[in-house]
Amino acid sequence: MKITREFIERIPKTDLHVHLDGSVRLNTILELAEEQGIELPGDPQTEEELAKSINMGAICEDLTDYLKAFDVTLRVMQTEEALYRIAFELGEDAARENVRYMEVRYSPLLHTRNGLSYPVIVEAVAEGLREAKRQYGLMSGQIICGIRHMTPESSLRMAELCVAFKNRAVVGFDLAGAEANNPAKDYREAFYLVRNNNVNLTIHAGEAYGPESIHQAIHLAGAQRIGHGTRLREDGDLLNYVNDRRIPLEVCLTSNVQTRATKSFESHPLPFYMSYGLRCTLNTDNRLVTDTTMTEEIWRAVQYYDLNIGDLRKLMIDGFKSSFMPYRKTRSVTAQAAAEFDSVVRQFEESTGESAITDPSVAQEIAFQQATANSRTPQVYSVAPEDRGYTLRERNSSSDNKRGSDDSDDDSEEKTAVTEEVSQAE
Ligand SMILES: [Zn+2]
Repeated sequence: MKITREFIERIPKTDLHVHLDGSVRLNTILELAEEQGIELPGDPQTEEELAKSINMGAICEDLTDYLKAFDVTLRVMQTEEALYRIAFELGEDAARENVRYMEVRYSPLLHTRNGLSYPVIVEAVAEGLREAKRQYGLMSGQIICGIRHMTPESSLRMAELCVAFKNRAVVGFDLAGAEANNPAKDYREAFYLVRNNNVNLTIHAGEAYGPESIHQAIHLAGAQRIGHGTRLREDGDLLNYVNDRRIPLEVCLTSNVQTRATKSFESHPLPFYMSYGLRCTLNTDNRLVTDTTMTEEIWRAVQYYDLNIGDLRKLMIDGFKSSFMPYRKTRSVTAQAAAEFDSVVRQFEESTGESAITDPSVAQEIAFQQATANSRTPQVYSVAPEDRGYTLRERNSSSDNKRGSDDSDDDSEEKTAVTEEVSQAE
């Protein structure tokens, strides 16, 4: 059975890395600007003109070029009503393509121009997402971002906000913004605050800077997931650590090509990461700016890397497993999603008259996934990390990447039980 775009649209999906201010509908920007009497740069009158003015989907010259879009979206995201609407519509767009769980990130720091307070901002977004849940059943949570090119104090304020909204609307903290010259270590107070309060942590790292940035994110900040991790392949030893600890990567394929984090789809490390057994999740990053959807991201991965049903199933399950939902919830949602995936496969097999799995190794991979569906990300511990800095750290040779890896999946603590279950099934 050939994997089609329709099939990808039908399967249950997650989106763990999506920026609210990068994922606004074109017509919503125009309507909100009109309503609020705000002039947009270049005074675009149509969706086409607006798309052009923000470089929607285009490969950008540099970061300034890429950030143009956020200058536009943020202008119309300064009221409760606008935040509510944009959060709801993002949930609606995601739910319509069968995204079942989404973690929406943004920084309240950027929505205070009209005097909104941080808690009011979080509540407005939460209410929009709640409405998406009521209407479409979409599960979601917010990730609050500190910003690298703003002051460490401002990130600390965002960390406090996470703690205040923990177990309500917020599921985690993130550090976003320009990686170069803004190392994670400068924001350690914010990280310590969220970690001391048992709040989940993910950090943008290895997108616009090398693996040193990922090293800091994990060992100094204590990140449980890595946003992007595109340049992790440059440090084989760290790559093995990330693999062994099952630290999930939030891969944003199209966005990486757009911002030149990687030269092309062909040279993106995703297929290498997947074959090496890293826990990869696929994500949109910015639906508007990158002109994408989850269906589109997976479809591109299938086309460029020739993924099979087993690969797709693993990507989908790893998305659910890597969520910041509580463990018991993650467990049941992952099991449900896996069952639904299998049922969609059966429906497509029946309608096409072709078998989805012809390769025995794919069947074996799926049996392993079924047995390990309940495992999730272990906590990463970082005690008194050594400060290696960005520039002091020595590079490892790429030969480190060649360390043997027959453990195609999963949490080691689950392995014993898993092996037993698989052999019982036989
Ligand atoms: Zn991002």
